[in-house]
Amino acid sequence: SNSAPTGDSYLVIGGCGFLGRHIVDALIKRGEEEVAVFDIVQRHFDSNIKFYTGDLTNIEDIADAIKKSRAQVVIHTASPPHGLAADIYEKVNVAGTHNVIEACQAAGVQKLVYTSSASVIYSGEENLINADERIPYATRPLDAYNDTKARAEAAVLKANGEDGLLTCALRPSGIFGPGDRQAITGFHAVIKNKQTKFQIGDNTNLFDWTYVANVAHAHLLAADKLDLTYPVLVLHEPLPPVDLSLG
Ligand code: NAD
Repeated sequence: SNSAPTGDSYLVIGGCGFLGRHIVDALIKRGEEEVAVFDIVQRHFDSNIKFYTGDLTNIEDIADAIKKSRAQVVIHTASPPHGLAADIYEKVNVAGTHNVIEACQAAGVQKLVYTSSASVIYSGEENLINADERIPYATRPLDAYNDTKARAEAAVLKANGEDGLLTCALRPSGIFGPGDRQAITGFHAVIKNKQTKFQIGDNTNLFDWTYVANVAHAHLLAADKLDLTYPVLVLHEPLPPVDLSLG
């Protein structure tokens, strides 16, 4: 990004993760001087970034980091990885995100940007082609990850405009690039386990992938542009239906 620094103070929750790290890098690269990270583990040691180690399921941990970092903008990108027990997603994604919202409101944070997932509208039953915000949440979510990401996102969007806090959510699909801890290791595991002789579907399956630095850039743009004209406030106006048919 070539844009100038805003001079705001930032806290990146999950900032030691794959995407979170790229968001931190993008903020530093454009010259932001107040960038802090909250994560349950510390994987990076940069002298210009303040790290707060804590668990977002514990409201004191996150409230303390927001207060100490004096964050004006909070970017919440933490989530457990795929393949864990359902109650972990419930705790971290739903309860943890409620903690983030509450702590932001209590501390007078101005903006909260949440990393949601494209999977919040995917039930596994029909193809989604050119789908956008008009598609409702999946009525039968595929799994606990998707279900809890959707409920966390809904809570974030509902909080928009409450107690002076502005919120928005981004829904990336697959993310690839340096630092990835899921996609490529997953492909390698498939090859190592000799599972490559199986084919699902007729080989015309599509899936969206976005380069991680572009997803990070989108988070900065979302934070920069977030104001009271955010469309969630006018979503009552009916939009034309979306054609989900293939091709
Ligand atoms: P990641 O696992 O690399 O990063 C997540 C970070 O959150 C980790 O550093 C982890 O330590 C931290 N974290 C987890 N639980 C925590 C807790 N209780 N308290 C504090 N920190 C905690 O994952 P990622 O791939 O960078 O994903 C980032 C976000 O993007 C997630 O919200 C995920 O749902 C979303 N997303 C990812 C993809 C993808 O393809 N990777 C696709 C769509 C959406």
